[in-house]
Formats: sequence, structure tokens, C-alpha cells
Amino acid sequence: MSFASLGLNDNLVQAIHECGYTQPTPIQQQAIPLVLKGGDLLAGAQTGTGKTAGFGLPMLQRLSETKARPLANGRAPVRALVLTPTRELAAQVEENLRAYAKHTDLRTLVMFGGVSINPQMKALGRKVDIVVATPGRLLDHVSQRSIDLSRVEMLVLDEADRMLDMGFIRDIRRILALLPKQRQNLLFSATFSDEIKTLAEDLLHQPEHIEVARRNATAETISQRFFEVDKGRKRALLSYHIGHHNWRQVLVFTRTKHGANRLAEQLDKDGLPAMAIHGNKSQGARTKALSEFKSGGIRVLVATDIAARGIDISELPHVVNYELPNVAEDYVHRIGRTGRAGSNGEALSLVSAEEKPLLKAIEKLIKQSADLEQVAGFEPDPNAPVAAPEPSRGGNRGRQGAGQRNGGQRSGGQRSGEQRSGGGQRGNGGEGNRNGANAQRRRPRSNGNGARSASQNG
Ligand code: AMP
Repeated sequence: MSFASLGLNDNLVQAIHECGYTQPTPIQQQAIPLVLKGGDLLAGAQTGTGKTAGFGLPMLQRLSETKARPLANGRAPVRALVLTPTRELAAQVEENLRAYAKHTDLRTLVMFGGVSINPQMKALGRKVDIVVATPGRLLDHVSQRSIDLSRVEMLVLDEADRMLDMGFIRDIRRILALLPKQRQNLLFSATFSDEIKTLAEDLLHQPEHIEVARRNATAETISQRFFEVDKGRKRALLSYHIGHHNWRQVLVFTRTKHGANRLAEQLDKDGLPAMAIHGNKSQGARTKALSEFKSGGIRVLVATDIAARGIDISELPHVVNYELPNVAEDYVHRIGRTGRAGSNGEALSLVSAEEKPLLKAIEKLIKQSADLEQVAGFEPDPNAPVAAPEPSRGGNRGRQGAGQRNGGQRSGGQRSGEQRSGGGQRGNGGEGNRNGANAQRRRPRSNGNGARSASQNG
């Protein structure tokens, strides 16, 4: 099947060709004709399926087919809005849309917090057809009156599940209230909680439903392996895998920012060039780490869940769960960083005795049982005490962060910081809270040998 046969015009087909895409992915095959028809869409699509082009290409075509009336102040209106949970994803989506729009006269702009608002305000003074934004920074612009959303014709909620998970629901509803009633709505989500279903019911009018992979499914192109290892031997086993298989590009997940920093430093000392990416890093540091990783300057990128959300590196070959996530869905998101758009990938998980309950939750979610393997020389010590998991040092992200935020306490300036969470307080603390809850639940398993977890973990 060709892109042209999906109804896309020559300008777009040419741009896709220049991006190196030859065949539409399954989500693109389904979404493009539906979005071109102008109706609302509810799409279940996991990361890496090509969903950005799935909504972006028909969006560009629809916008290029009609001319927008100027606003009362003579300016060109913003005609489409894409909301994403994190800065990285916003940047990635806008970059893709810009590439697809190359042969059209449509202009895109990305806006997220953690960077100065001034260049974004200046850019809004020019013609901008499509804005890709994180909710908090968009509301900053609304409160500064630098953006007028009253003419938005198309709205996309990308990774809606993650936006809700990050506590953005109230911001999303505030933004919805600023949009004209008559518009096309597209909602993309990897998972479907009751909260997402409620949002979809409120937002979408007689939507078409598409789902390209089973809910909470992992892509078939990803080979998943699970290695049993003592917590204190994880770093050695990770170094072994990297060295033994001569991996040149591996994304490693830790549960906490502190853990990410520490592991990156230690790997670097071991002679494996590594950097950490997480919410406490400045946007500049995050961008630098990502570009070094993409260009091969570093071999290992150590990331926390939130920071990694928007990372898109084509054909990323290896993902390692250095620590299993506390929330099983994050496992699907993590390993979705590899095996993207049809290429093969490998996801390794290092599982210590104290993480077995987390593994069980993951098995249940992905409806697969994990074969635990051992590597000679790294076999777990059957007599080793099971330590309580290391508490995270984060603040309070997640639903509690959302609670604070929903209380309406924050000023515009604070909100910009919060977008880092993407990063900032919430990115951090959510991990902290979740860990805390889990740590408490599992504490009875501990023999009280807490020192082991802190000093020996990698
Ligand atoms: P997405 O799920 O939109 O983040 O896309 C995942 C990756 O697949 C990105 O690197 C895209 O550039 C790439 N991609 C999207 N569509 C295609 C396609 N039809 N053929 C090859 N690569 C694609």
C-alpha cells in the first residue's frame, strides 16, 4: 500500500518520501483516511507505531485544503493544536510535523516549559498554523494573551494516558474550554483507563475507533529477556552485556533520578561513555545528552521513565530495565523505545529478588510469562537476604503533584517549572511517591538489611 493510495496529496507524499518512509504503518493505514474525512478519532496506539504521521499527515492535508480567515487583529490564526505530556515528545512531534509540512506553506511551533517564554512569544507574532505544546506552558501563553485558541480547527491529545497520569487533566479541561466547539478531535492513547474513557466520552463526537495493537501489548518486533541477578550485581551484569555483545547504543532505565545519575557516572568510570537524562537536568543538558546518544558520542543513555517518554531514536536496538518500573504500564512504554516502526529491538530486564512482585504485575499486564535467565558468573546468591527497595529521593509528582496543581496555587512562573516534569517537581516526585508506596507494601519481605540496598545497588 502506498501513501498516495491513502488519499494524501503530492506535496505530502514527496515529504514522506524524503523522510525515507516507503510503506504506511498499520496505524497510518487506518488513521489517515479516517482523519481526512474530518470525523473524530479514538486511537489505541503504542509508542513507535508511527502515530505522529498517522494524525500529522491528514492534519496537514486538511489544513492546506482551506484558507483561514485572519483574526480581528489581522493575524493568522492557530488552526491546529497538539498537546503532549512532555517536552521531549512535543519537540519530537513538532520536528516530524515540520518535516512532513516541508512542501506546504503551513508553519509549526513547539512550546514547552523549562525554557524562556520570550522566543515562543516572538514566534507567535508570525504566522503559526500548528502549535505543539505541553499543557502548562500553553496555559502560560494563554494567561499572557500571547496565543488565541479561538480558531483551532483540529485538536490532538497525544499520549493522553500519560497526560492524565501526570496530572494534566485540569489543564486539559481549561484548554478545551478555550477552543471553538466546532472542531475535529483526535485522541491517542496507549492504554485505556476509566479516566481516559471519561475524557474520550466528553471530548469526542461519534468517534471512529482504531486500535493497532492489543491494549497494553508489547510490539512483536521486540525480543524480551529477563535476567535474574542480585541487586548489588546489576551494574556488573549491565557492563557485561554491553561489553560482551558490543552494544553501541543502549537506553537504560532506572527508577530514580539519583539512581540514573549514579549509574551513568559509574558506567562512565568503567569506560562505557554514558549520560543521564531526567527531570532535574536543564533542557540544554537533556538535549545535549540526547544528541550525543543519537550521534554515537555516548554508548549508554540512562533515563527515568518520564524523561524518556518522548525519546525517539529510530531503530534503537537495546533497552535495558536496570530496575523494573513500579507501574507495570511503564514497562510497555519503556520497551516501546526499541523495535519502533517495524525494526527489531531487544529489551532486557535485570530482575532482583525484591522485584519479583513487580515482574508478576508486568507479566499479568502483557499477558506473557517471563522466562528468567541467569548469566554464568552472575547467578543470584540463593542465601542473599531480600532487601527493601531503595527509597527514591524525589519530591512529589504524579497524582499528588496534580492535586497541588489543581488547587490552583501556582502562578504562571511556577507552572513553567512544573513542565519540566516532564521533569521538574512532578517528574521527580511521582517516581518518589510511587516508590514510597511500593516500598512500604514490600517492607515485610525485608530482613531489615537496609544497608545493602543503598550501598550495593550498582
Ligand atoms: P511515532 O510512533 O510517530 O513516534 O513514530 C516512530 C518512528 O517511526 C519515528 O522515528 C518515525 O519517523 C518513524 N516512522 C513513522 N512512520 C513511518 C513509516 N511509514 N515508515 C518508516 N518509519 C516511520
